[in-house]
Amino acid sequence: MFIVPESEIAGLITPEDAFAAVEATFAAMARGDAYNFPVVREALGEGRQYGFKSGLDRAGAIMGVKAGGYFPGNAAKGMINHQSSVFLFDPDTGRPIAMVGGNLLTALRTAAASAISIDRLARKDAKVLGMVGAGHQAQFQLRAAAKVRDFERVIAWNYHPDMLPTLGAVAAELGLPFEAVELDGMRAADVIVTITSAPAASLLDAHVSPGTHLACMGTDTKGKQEVEPALLARARVFTDEVAQSVTIGEAQHAVAGGLIAESDITPIGAVIAGLAEGRQSDDQITLFDGTGVGLQDLAVAGAAVRLAQETGVAVTVTI
Ligand code: NAD
Repeated sequence: MFIVPESEIAGLITPEDAFAAVEATFAAMARGDAYNFPVVREALGEGRQYGFKSGLDRAGAIMGVKAGGYFPGNAAKGMINHQSSVFLFDPDTGRPIAMVGGNLLTALRTAAASAISIDRLARKDAKVLGMVGAGHQAQFQLRAAAKVRDFERVIAWNYHPDMLPTLGAVAAELGLPFEAVELDGMRAADVIVTITSAPAASLLDAHVSPGTHLACMGTDTKGKQEVEPALLARARVFTDEVAQSVTIGEAQHAVAGGLIAESDITPIGAVIAGLAEGRQSDDQITLFDGTGVGLQDLAVAGAAVRLAQETGVAVTVTI
């Protein structure tokens, strides 16, 4: 089997590679060729979380698991708090194929999902990108979004305003003017990415103009929330996986409140595969509830293994 160390990932896989791999697996999910296995997630005490996201993509010939979690004591030990590794297996024989560092891949596959939603659902003439959130993932989100539309400027709000200059530096690197705004300033945005760990809605229905596309990427657990549920009732809602959207995604609140039903939510893979309509008018609000599925991790890990084999950086071990 191959080992692709975390330290090699940045030199191997580009945002474009991640976009292509995640788009293919979303389409395979919609066609019934790929599915996610039930997620295991355990609280270990003292704020530590550990779990397993796994699945099978028959079309991509990939089966495997991402094992990972959140360890708040790591920063004091000089490590990042989120730690994950991906293990791939041959779907025909069950033999292990590869172990791949999963930390950077997680950021790339999450940003890819958001960018796919913008590419498929945002108005073609979108010019203003709104960012709600300015943490670790936000930088990847901004870079990926900038690849799929010709944005002319970025406006941003963050609960902790002191974190905004780091995001502003990424915008500057991309050649985009950057301005910190209050939440009601988001009315100027054509696309809004939310990527926070908030426990309650920050962005309200009144902060969003008709025709906006939202990629709500931060809510991946029961109890997190980024936007007011009324916004989902006003929008056409899409997701990576409906089962996750209604339980751990942003839609959990609107569904629990009876504002929308599970049947109102369209898998983005169905749009990619030509099985469902995306945006229906320039005035429509579209909202992608990105919850993060195991198949995204397997797709980008598979791409990393292929590239590592081609470039000779994969370490081969016999087990
Ligand atoms: P981070 O810790 O680096 O940043 C957290 C962000 O949330 C910051 O912008 C912070 O200011 C903001 N925030 C914290 N408390 C808040 C509050 N009460 N109200 C509003 N904002 C608040 O985290 P990160 O790595 O950037 O991850 C952000 C979120 O994305 C997390 O919830 C994480 O679990 C989630 N995530 C989702 C996926 C997915 O596939 N959907 C993948 C990775 C991470």
